[in-house]
Amino acid sequence: MESKSYGKNTICTHAGQLEDHQFGGAVSPLYMSTSYPFQDVEEKRYPRYFNTPNQQGLSKKVAALEHGEAGLIFGSGMAAIMTSLLAFLQSGDHVVLQNAIYGGTRNLINEEFKKFGIEYSYVESNDIASYEKVIAHNTKVIYIETPSNPLLEITDIKAIAELAKKHKLISMIDNTFASPINQTPIVFGIDVVLHSATKYMSGHSDILAGAVVSSHANIERIFNAGKNFGGTLSDFTVWLLERSLKTMALRVKRQNRNARKLAKWLEKNTQVTKVYYPGLKSHPNYKLAKEQMKGFGGMLSFELKDDLCSKQFQDSLNLIKSSMSLAGVESTILSPHLTSHGLLSEEEREEQGIKNGLLRFSVGIEEVSDLKADIEQALKLASKLSKVIV
Ligand SMILES: *Cc1c(COP(=O)(O)O)cnc(C)c1O
Repeated sequence: MESKSYGKNTICTHAGQLEDHQFGGAVSPLYMSTSYPFQDVEEKRYPRYFNTPNQQGLSKKVAALEHGEAGLIFGSGMAAIMTSLLAFLQSGDHVVLQNAIYGGTRNLINEEFKKFGIEYSYVESNDIASYEKVIAHNTKVIYIETPSNPLLEITDIKAIAELAKKHKLISMIDNTFASPINQTPIVFGIDVVLHSATKYMSGHSDILAGAVVSSHANIERIFNAGKNFGGTLSDFTVWLLERSLKTMALRVKRQNRNARKLAKWLEKNTQVTKVYYPGLKSHPNYKLAKEQMKGFGGMLSFELKDDLCSKQFQDSLNLIKSSMSLAGVESTILSPHLTSHGLLSEEEREEQGIKNGLLRFSVGIEEVSDLKADIEQALKLASKLSKVIV
């Protein structure tokens, strides 16, 4: 299937599908085999080599969605991120990363990179001059993530891609929060697109997986590292992920719509002091978000008034569940100061703009009216209780 001319829903449904030659079934057959005949020294078929029929089929779908030449599917988002970074970095090299990146990626850099002798600098997410300032003779990679977690900051993808080209660096983006439905960074000149497929690609909170999309040459380089690191995904889960991806465009478009409606509604609520959502005109990078995104995504964050207890609010929600992860069809919420950013000191959190009243909201596909009703009743309970405590 020549997928570039097709729309997202069509690519989600059909790209990379395997034909069932034996029975003509409607879905890809599942090939669980770990053992295939010897082809030649270069061309061995083996799950760790990313080349089983199901792995190859799914890679094609993900590559088509991102408008890239090729892709690889990994056992987790972190496996995709680590393998891709280490495919382009070696001892003595330097990588520039934006400040606001996923906590797990930050841990990978801070805890592991010194062991490999790889240097790194963090810079302000959307201050392009600050990236250029730290580029040195040994810099090899620029790494961004937009929209960011949990404050939904927007980084200028095109400007980063151009900066990387100017200095002959590889540009990488973690595109998890946007999903390929809302943002295709390769179109803006980014080299390597990474995903935690655990999130919007899976969409049902039941698969851990990762993906990378890039040019044939870059994917070959990442493959060569990946086959040694051994972070591939089992074929059964590959098959499940293909099933999930068929509805990704439907789910994400619905989540975009729900999140935008809720963001606008929350912004008007007197109990809420601030809403972070790139689709709001009040977002400092609304214009940029509109230029580089087709939809503003299903993630938003908001702050409650100081006299409301965010934990009490969260505990009072019935429909919206507390959860560490995100992007499922069900709406979930978390308090960054108690969870993802709980190990930081209060000052460090303040520095990153994370207040105690901040809540990160992963908007699902439910009816907006039900989500609003749930938030409303929880706000009432949180304000009553905060008055009792005061
Ligand atoms: C979850 C997540 C990851 C890590 O992915 P895993 O599948 O948990 O390994 C990376 N980046 C972002 C933005 C994420 O949300």
